[in-house]
Amino acid sequence: MKLSEIGNTLREIRVTPVKTLGQNFLHDQNLARWIVQQAELSSADFVLEIGPGLGAMTEPALATGAEILAIEKDGRLADFLRVHFAGRRLQVIHGDALEFDPRRLFQHGPVKLLGNLPYYVSTQILLHFLAQPTPITVALLMLQKEVATRLSAQPRSKDYGILTLIVQAQYRVAYLRTVPSSVFLPQPDVDSAFVRLLPRAPDELPAHDHELFVRLVRRGFSQRRKQLGKLLREELTDWPRAAAEIGAAAQARAEELSLEQWIALTNFVQPAGPPTAGTDLTERFAVVDKRDRVTGAAPRDEVHGNNLRHRAVHIFLFNRAGELLLQKRSRWKDRHPGLWDSSAAGHVNAGEEYDATAERELFEELGVTTKLERVAKLAASERTGQEFIWLYRGEHEGPFVPARAEIDSVQFFPLDAVAQWIDRRPDDFAPGFIECWRADRSRNERASQNNPA
Ligand code: SAM
Repeated sequence: MKLSEIGNTLREIRVTPVKTLGQNFLHDQNLARWIVQQAELSSADFVLEIGPGLGAMTEPALATGAEILAIEKDGRLADFLRVHFAGRRLQVIHGDALEFDPRRLFQHGPVKLLGNLPYYVSTQILLHFLAQPTPITVALLMLQKEVATRLSAQPRSKDYGILTLIVQAQYRVAYLRTVPSSVFLPQPDVDSAFVRLLPRAPDELPAHDHELFVRLVRRGFSQRRKQLGKLLREELTDWPRAAAEIGAAAQARAEELSLEQWIALTNFVQPAGPPTAGTDLTERFAVVDKRDRVTGAAPRDEVHGNNLRHRAVHIFLFNRAGELLLQKRSRWKDRHPGLWDSSAAGHVNAGEEYDATAERELFEELGVTTKLERVAKLAASERTGQEFIWLYRGEHEGPFVPARAEIDSVQFFPLDAVAQWIDRRPDDFAPGFIECWRADRSRNERASQNNPA
C-alpha cells in the first residue's frame, strides 16, 4: 500500500494507529516486495504472518500463490483484512500471537514465518515461535535495529548476550539490511532492520543439554563486567580447568566466549555423552506365528528382509494436561527416518516378554520409568510391518533424556492437534504409530460410550 492509500484506508475503517500495539505500517511497496522475495515463496508454501496490519506484506505474499495464516491482535484490522482479501488463500486469526500454540503449526508441514513485528513484544514473539522442535524452516523478520543487532552479534561486542546465544544455538542469523523509520506510517522512534533465521542442522553444533546451556549463559551474563570464574562458582568448582579445556582465558568475561565455547563449557559441566548405540544389527527378535505364538528367533535384518511376523511394543505417554508425547525419529534410523512416532517403541527380543520390553524401551529411549497399562493389542498386518503390537499408556511430565542415536526430539502435543495433523499429513508419521493412535482413540470412544458423563 502506498502512503496515501494507508491514510485513506485508516480513515475509512476509522483506525488511528495505536502505539501500544506497535502499529507502524509499511508504505514502501518496493521494500515489501523485496522482503517477500527473500522468502522465495511459491504456491506450495505455507506462511505464518505475525501482525499483518493493513496487509503491506500479505499482499505481495498472496500474489505468489502461497497460503497464509495471519495473526492480528487488532480486531478492526483483522476484519479489514478478511474483507479486503476475501476469496484469497488467507486465514486471519484475531488474537495475540503469544497465545497461539505453535505446536498447531505442524499440521501445515514446513512453515515460513514472516512478520514486521510489533516492537514492544518482538523478542517474546521470536522466542515463542522459534522454540524447538518447530516446523518453521525460515523466519524473515523486521525488528527494531537494536534487537536485530543483538541477534546477529559476535563475541566481544556490547550487543552480544543472552538473546544472541539462545537464538544462535538453534538458528543461523543473517542481518540482511537496515530499514529507515521513514518507510513507516507513523514513523517509529528508532530504525529497523530485517533479519533471516535458518534452523541449524541437527549435527551442526556439538550435542549439549540446551537447558543447562541457557542457565549457564544467563548466569554468565548476569553481571557483564564480572569474571566468569566468580559468576559460575555454583555450577563449576574448577573454573581454571574448564577455562583451559574450552580455550578461554582464566579471567574471561561472558562476552569473550564464542557460541562453541559456551557449548563446550556446558559439556564440561555435564557431558552430553556419546550417542547411545543406534540400530544393533546383532539383535535377535522373537519370531511368531499368525496367532502370536513364538516359533523361533532371528536377527533384525532377516526379520525385516523376509517379512517375518514378530512382536513390538508402543508406548503413549501423557502429561497431566492429557497431551501426548511424540518422538521425532532420528534421520539416521534405518526405518521411517525423520518421521513422528509414539513416545517410545521397540521390538520384543528373543526370550523377552511384552511387558518387560515396554519397560526397557521406555527407559532406553526416554530415560524414564513409570507405571504402564496395556491398552490394546494390534494384529500383525502389512500396516504394522508384520508386527503384533501391544500398546501401553503411562503418565510422565518429563524431563526426558532421549536416546540421541534414535530420537531427534520429543514434544507433547494436544490430542486435537495430533488428530488434525494426522488427517492432513499422515505421511509425517510412522505407519505403526497411526495404527496405535486409531486403536487408542477407538478404545477411548468405547470407554466414553460405556460411561457417558
Ligand atoms: N505488517 C504490517 C506492516 O508491515 O505494515 C503491520 C506491522 S506493525 C509494526 C505490527 C502489527 O502487529 C500491527 O498490525 C499490530 O496491531 C499487530 N500486533 C501487535 N501486537 C500483536 C500481538 N501480540 N499479536 C499479533 N499481532 C500484534
